Amino acid sequence: MADFADIYGQEQMKEHMQHALRTERLSHAYIISGERGSGKEYIADIFAKALMCENRTEKDGVLEACGSCPSCIKAMSKSHPDIITVTHEKPAIISVDEVRQQLNGDIMIKPYESRYKVYIIPDGEKMNIQAQNSFLKTLEEPPSYIVIIILTENLNAFLPTIISRCIHLPMKPVGDDIIKKYLMEKCHVVDYKAELCASFARGNMGKAIELASGERFEALGNETIDLISRLERLEIHDMMERVKLMLAPSEEGEKNAKKGIDMRQYEDFMDILVFLFRDMLVYKATGDDAHLIFTDKVSYISSVTKKCSYEDINCIIEDLNTARSRISSNVNIELALELMLIGIKEHL
Ligand SMILES: [Zn+2]
Repeated sequence: MADFADIYGQEQMKEHMQHALRTERLSHAYIISGERGSGKEYIADIFAKALMCENRTEKDGVLEACGSCPSCIKAMSKSHPDIITVTHEKPAIISVDEVRQQLNGDIMIKPYESRYKVYIIPDGEKMNIQAQNSFLKTLEEPPSYIVIIILTENLNAFLPTIISRCIHLPMKPVGDDIIKKYLMEKCHVVDYKAELCASFARGNMGKAIELASGERFEALGNETIDLISRLERLEIHDMMERVKLMLAPSEEGEKNAKKGIDMRQYEDFMDILVFLFRDMLVYKATGDDAHLIFTDKVSYISSVTKKCSYEDINCIIEDLNTARSRISSNVNIELALELMLIGIKEHL
């Protein structure tokens, strides 16, 4: 299990936690908010482990868990009796019964072996109103040893009375160069690929790691650019068949699927297109491949920029934006993609 030194970026969050550890002045409740993949669970685990450690040590000015005391060993194997993760049965809801059983009913029992008792609540936004109201009672008069860490993708889902009783720690987007460094140092990703993944991840470390470690994204990038390069010679029907095949859900993507299209694949497909045509604008303006994202596609990019005007490329980017907003406002996704591809084809 990682330590504070393994957290790239998130300086404010680290500073806050370090200060709390040093002074032993803890809030009874924290909310860590951030998008999926941003590292909320990762940081909560590091904080909980350090909090419970019996022998914290200072390394390069950072207070870290020792990693070898009985508490650390249990925390690392996820079997610490005083670090409790609240679970829920239904994927979309944390029910009032679950809050009562796992939190309210448990919180008065003193820690088994530590000074603190830490509750981690992943997907906190899934507590429905009854669950939140019940949780609020616990927050109003918590026993002194309690530290609750709520993780959430959506702060707006909480009652204001909950938010006002918690310290809110937002995950911040991590800089591209920090992500690139992480991918190269920790995941041994080559330079150009690390840069590509960092651009696409938009500050989300988990997404960058996922992009860099899977072949899915690289394959999708190659297929997308191949499709665009053949667009002129393809009939609409064949074009859509290829797109549907590219965006078809895999087994794990099944639950994000909408009308036979994996929405995560779709998001990445759209990002790839946007970055590709942005590359074309950059290349057309500078004639230089140093600032391109798709450095490995420079011959294709240069061939398009020779025959297309700025206006053509801008129209294509507009078509991409239109398709995106249509799809997010629930227009039939296949139809919106088809119109978009026809638009791209016309301007190429
Ligand atoms: Zn320890």
